[in-house]
Amino acid sequence: MNMSDFEVFICGDIEGVSGFVDWAQEDEESERVRRAMTEDINAAIRGVLSERKAEIVVNDSHGGKRNIILEELHPKATLVRGGPRPHGMISGAEGSADIGFQIGAHTRPGYGGVLEHVFSSSTMSEVTLNGQPVGEVELNAMGMEYFDVPTGLVTGDDRLEDELTELLPRTKYVVTKECRGMRSAACRHPEAVREDIEAQAAATVAEIENGYPLNLGVDEDVRATIRYHQADTADKAALWPEVERIDSRTIGYQSTDNLEIYSFLRAASKV
Ligand SMILES: [Zn+2]
Repeated sequence: MNMSDFEVFICGDIEGVSGFVDWAQEDEESERVRRAMTEDINAAIRGVLSERKAEIVVNDSHGGKRNIILEELHPKATLVRGGPRPHGMISGAEGSADIGFQIGAHTRPGYGGVLEHVFSSSTMSEVTLNGQPVGEVELNAMGMEYFDVPTGLVTGDDRLEDELTELLPRTKYVVTKECRGMRSAACRHPEAVREDIEAQAAATVAEIENGYPLNLGVDEDVRATIRYHQADTADKAALWPEVERIDSRTIGYQSTDNLEIYSFLRAASKV
């Protein structure tokens, strides 16, 4: 089946997509935002295929994970949708992908980007790895790196670009909007954004041999902590074996296996 020996994995979220500033848009203009997410991803696929022949695996990572319009997705792509599923936002990277993109991403909670959160805006207020607060992009990059898939391209608001400067120093970035508040941004026109995504996706695969390092300090033992909004959520999470109770709203978990840490954090967002 594999027609090409080069494979690109694309994790698609919605908060960093062109024009998206509020979760209310998912009800008020559902069709439009689903199309915008699909088209931002299509631009990345066009960029890859302009540079080289490739297999493309797209992961629908947002909410119920059934946002991307399959009929409107680039016909060269395979879509992973629905859940729960193993490896969540990075499901599809565990195969033979050579490089990964995170399209439509957002900042970690507390960093000040549009719709900032980590895994669950309703339960989690902070996640740290070895003391450093992290968001989904860092966690996905860590999980992808476990499968030897470097993060070559990220798109989202200007605050996320700032958050990732030292963590993913060589990863290419496309700014889709300038943050004005948690639910407000100065949005670039989608056509202009997609031109940039296409160009940066092409440049990313062209320069893959130079590498895309992740400076997260997770090469050995990792201690993860989760602070919840409510103490009773921590009460439930603390019932699991090997979970450490740090304070009324905070739990900890330790492992030498980065994929186990990733899976634990995903599970702990759903208690
Ligand atoms: Zn999302």
